[in-house]
Amino acid sequence: MIEEILPDFYRIEVPLPENPLKLLNSYLIKGKNRNLLIDTGFNRKECKTALMDGLNTLEVNLEETDIFITHLHADHSGLISAVATNNTVVYCSEVDSKIVNLTHMPNYWAEIRSLFKSHGFPFQIIDETGWRHPGQIYNPDCEQSFTFVKENDSIEIGNYHFLCIETPGHTPGHICLYEPIQKLLISGDHILAKITPNIGLEKFIDDPLDLYLKSLEKIDQMEINLALPGHRQIIVDVHKRIGELQQHHTNRLKEILKILNTNRMNAYQIASKMKWDLTYTEWEKFPISQKWFAAGEAATHLIYLWQKGMIHGINEDGIFFFERIT
Ligand SMILES: [Zn+2]
Repeated sequence: MIEEILPDFYRIEVPLPENPLKLLNSYLIKGKNRNLLIDTGFNRKECKTALMDGLNTLEVNLEETDIFITHLHADHSGLISAVATNNTVVYCSEVDSKIVNLTHMPNYWAEIRSLFKSHGFPFQIIDETGWRHPGQIYNPDCEQSFTFVKENDSIEIGNYHFLCIETPGHTPGHICLYEPIQKLLISGDHILAKITPNIGLEKFIDDPLDLYLKSLEKIDQMEINLALPGHRQIIVDVHKRIGELQQHHTNRLKEILKILNTNRMNAYQIASKMKWDLTYTEWEKFPISQKWFAAGEAATHLIYLWQKGMIHGINEDGIFFFERIT
């Protein structure tokens, strides 16, 4: 499906099969000399067909098209290799670009694995089932060359003058694009409607939740009429949505403190006792992917509480255990 949001500004729906996010919003802006494609979809057949069909319908010449990647995740970066030609500039933050290319290195996955292991994730469930992270399966075909963008860099396409706004948290180098004339924000996975963006564990980022909440405050200071997120519906009242996301994390932190109570637990144990907005009734029935994202989310909230001096963290034989300060 293609929707014209503004003149020369389109949203192409890219389905994400077997993924609770359901679909990715890829945005295409047509300019006089160059077009800009924002985010692409997983590197898998269903996504590629939808994206290419959309670009064909819009009569886009790929030789005249550049790509902007809001952040490293494979549902946004996976199809770079399918779309980019030798003339394509692929914009992304330096740190997220680096991680996109690291996903081709076995060492990277070994490091991620030990990061999750240090928060109690039981790797026997992965070894038994052979589960692989989507970033390992649906990443771009090969290493990519990127043009790094940072805070306040501008990208001009037709009548649109985008500014890069660094919004770390969901990933270390997440970037939103802001169009000051239309007061339009392309929010990537920083702000989503209805879904709360996953704040998980990643390389090069020590306290993701703290950074994420600061990035929310930063966006809250801006004048925004419309936000175009990476998934699902367009957001009309961004400030209201920011308030809801802030409240969600406050509630999460309280929930974790309550679960900890007099206990001493690791992130995986806590995740199994938290409430998740999923159809599965018991933790044991969660698919591994959901256990993975839940454990990461519990870990980032525990790290936040620990950094703020609200709980103790103790590394015991390579696994972090947390307890309340009495
Ligand atoms: Zn993402």
